[in-house]
Amino acid sequence: TWGQVREKLVARLGRHNYTSWIEPLKLSTLAEGVAQFEAPSSFIGNWVSRNYTDQILNELRASGAEVSRVEFTVTGFAQPEPKKAAKPAAPKREEALPGAPLDSRFTFDTFVVGKPNELAHAAARRVAEGGPVTFNPLFLYGGVGLGKTHLMHAIAHELTARSPELRVLYLSAEQFMYRFVQALREKQIMDFKEIFRSVDVLMVDDVQFIAGKDSTQEEFFHTFNALVDQNKQIVISADRAPGEIKDLEERIKSRLQCGLVVDLHPTDYELRLGILQTKAEGYRSQYRGLQIASGVLEFLAHRITTNVRVLEGALTRLFAFASLVGREITLELAQDCLADILRASDRKLTVEEIQRKVAEHYNIRLSDMIGPKRLRNIARPRQVAMYLAKHLTSRSLPEIGRRFGGRDHTTIMHGVKKIEELIMTDSQLNDDLQLLKRLLQG
Ligand code: ADP
Ligand code: MG
Repeated sequence: TWGQVREKLVARLGRHNYTSWIEPLKLSTLAEGVAQFEAPSSFIGNWVSRNYTDQILNELRASGAEVSRVEFTVTGFAQPEPKKAAKPAAPKREEALPGAPLDSRFTFDTFVVGKPNELAHAAARRVAEGGPVTFNPLFLYGGVGLGKTHLMHAIAHELTARSPELRVLYLSAEQFMYRFVQALREKQIMDFKEIFRSVDVLMVDDVQFIAGKDSTQEEFFHTFNALVDQNKQIVISADRAPGEIKDLEERIKSRLQCGLVVDLHPTDYELRLGILQTKAEGYRSQYRGLQIASGVLEFLAHRITTNVRVLEGALTRLFAFASLVGREITLELAQDCLADILRASDRKLTVEEIQRKVAEHYNIRLSDMIGPKRLRNIARPRQVAMYLAKHLTSRSLPEIGRRFGGRDHTTIMHGVKKIEELIMTDSQLNDDLQLLKRLLQG
């Protein structure tokens, strides 16, 4: 059966490859020598067909099935089969690119794939394959610590491993601005332009940073266009979707939306556990002989839900501490040693935080949020904050009312209702709420 074959494939391909590529497949039919699989995207279908056809065939045959061919149909939208392109002879340049160093640990091998990040991962993999540019730019976005930088570094590692002559430039938007300002100051702006416009792949991390920085945006826009015109791959990350970045020029927003925009969702329990297991595996060989009681990783995956960086930090500390005191890692030890982290991630969202974020988002004063003004441009954000307070905290309506300058609970109820009605029809409001929820819940 496919179930047994899958188990064989885990052993053959390794857990990581298996979850990335084989797990998403569904065996739809097996008849007349053809095994027909459904893949969630043509990218995954193509990848598996190119890389794992033989292994799948062998294992199917070993299980007694009569097959001579595997085929993939796509359940999502169809994409043209990517073709390996002949490498255009890139002008060979010796000088180092003004990029940021890459973290050698941030590779595809160390990236754990789960539901929340599978699309971003698949898209990153596709870009890392090189070949003709199919979507430009690739725009990755998501909250802090969800793996944007990790994926970008992984793309850079993979591309340069495949094609060492490729000029891959990775840097943060902040560094881009710094280089630009420095070039202006040193009157080397032509050099700056030449360098940035001659790369094969440009990756700019945390692009939201250039919002509101006018001349940097301008330069970024021209660099971007010049590269797209030459059909060079661009990869961008940000903490939110292009349309949601404030003080970013419209023309840049629309440019950023031209390619493929994918988000990294907040982690779920399975992904967190997967990440912990992978890291713990590494630590076990580093701290030889250190025992970890069963249930500890599950406990951490359950309790630390903020972001992956915090999760990793917790595990690092736990192993270091346990090896120092020479004890087995038990639940008690974890609770003891990680008390502060556990407390912080239990922290409840407050009405005040919601008010602050909403006021910031709509550009109104916090005092107006709480005050009596009835102007629509203040009243609506206030209702949004009431709505979020009702839905994201466990406060009662009277308690919420008190935090809105002593308003009556019926006023709060009215505000909440109003937003609930508007959600049905107002897509801008919907976007605002999505963003605010993400910002507030991390
Ligand atoms: P971001 O850039 O989105 O803020 P990072 O890429 O810096 O996040 O990730 C934060 C930390 O979490 C890094 O150490 C990274 O290796 C790790 N991390 C995030 N997602 C994953 C994942 N899916 N698998 C393994 N490690 C991850
Ligand atoms: Mg980052």
